[in-house]
Amino acid sequence: MKKHIRCGTLFTSCDDQALKDQTIIVANNRVDAIHPTESAPLPSDGDVVVDHSNHFVMPGLIDIHVHLSYGNALSEEDIDIYSPVEYRALRGLQGAQRVLRAGFTSLADPATTGHVTPAIRDAIECGLFVGPRISSGGRQITNRQGLSDWYPTWIGVPDTSIGALAENAEAGIKEIRKQKKQGVDFVKIAMDGDSMNPTTGLVSGYTQAETTAMVEEAHRLGLKVVVHARGTEGVLYAARAGVDVILHASWMDDEGLEAVIKNDCMLCPTLSLVLNDILFTQPTDGCYPGFPNAHRQELEAARVMLSKAREAGVTFLLGSDSGFAVTPYGEWHARELEYYVDYLGFTPAEAIICATRNNRHFLREHEDVGILEVGRYADILVVDGNPLADIAILQNRERLVSVMKGGDHIDLNISDDVKPHVLEHSYSMWGEVYTQDRVHEILGDNLGHIPARAAE
Ligand SMILES: [Zn+2]
Repeated sequence: MKKHIRCGTLFTSCDDQALKDQTIIVANNRVDAIHPTESAPLPSDGDVVVDHSNHFVMPGLIDIHVHLSYGNALSEEDIDIYSPVEYRALRGLQGAQRVLRAGFTSLADPATTGHVTPAIRDAIECGLFVGPRISSGGRQITNRQGLSDWYPTWIGVPDTSIGALAENAEAGIKEIRKQKKQGVDFVKIAMDGDSMNPTTGLVSGYTQAETTAMVEEAHRLGLKVVVHARGTEGVLYAARAGVDVILHASWMDDEGLEAVIKNDCMLCPTLSLVLNDILFTQPTDGCYPGFPNAHRQELEAARVMLSKAREAGVTFLLGSDSGFAVTPYGEWHARELEYYVDYLGFTPAEAIICATRNNRHFLREHEDVGILEVGRYADILVVDGNPLADIAILQNRERLVSVMKGGDHIDLNISDDVKPHVLEHSYSMWGEVYTQDRVHEILGDNLGHIPARAAE
């Protein structure tokens, strides 16, 4: 049985051109042939014809920066401590389904807790549940003052954290070897922290020698390496060490860019976290106004250097850092494409290519996804409208006519009526301190009295 998908407009991501009136023929979940509809072979008995001759057909999108274990977290403690990891896996599976429903047929998760994301990946791959194709890292390797070293030294980096503390290259290499055995698809190293201090600059958590040693070992084991690096120094060390992908790269300088070009590193700026934070957070949020203000400065630096990198021909991947309260699953992934157009000077076609053809390089299925070409999986997004004219329509759920994985239309019925998980270990007790002054302010002079129980 073959499926004939009639496409009004077809954008394959093989180049930046769209073709009119094409037919994709799908067999065994893969693209079997693509023909102009007028000369396409006629369907045989038993074949299925799907008519999208009024629609725009493109490869399923890919987000390489989704954190399935975070649970749309309000705080770092939410991410690292409160929920049991088993709960995080169940919750993360539903998060993955929301990503798929938003038109993203593949994702990569750079940092997870326990074995949460590899477990979700495997459960979907084995056919237990419907979901996107997933590639996963493990816990991010971090040093003192890096990501995940948020807590006081007397707490440290807990076992349930998304970070694994490695205070030197030897410890990092040990962790990389462990993660290889646990079946990760790649390794993530946190080069710098997240304190976003643009005046003194972020200090790299690892030296050049430490970074190079860890990257060499990961590559020796056949694992790609992604780093979190906002700061000038972290970007430079990572690029010189020849990492595969640099997330953020906001304060990259010319020396860093030179090393990125020389070693063929790919960049994934992840503007969503920065911009959503500036645009969406409210004065009632705990991070306000510190985060939005710091992110405004970060955006200014990033716009200049990342545009320069784009002009220099650096390969850009695309990811949204979904999993935080400001980047919830299934909501804003496609907005990152709009940010690429608005802030970095990409055309809509180039932004789509970043989110499809370029992103596939970082996935375990890199040979099989990201472009619509004979032999690849028929992972397809059907849109009502033309994203090459208006990239923002990819964010509009009503415009997403069909999401197909391996040629099969995905119909996910996900409840939006989900109660917040009662965090039984999060002892939220009192929101303020009840001094005499404060109590009198609330209750006046009559503080009340509990009467003795009446005699029975
Ligand atoms: Zn992230």
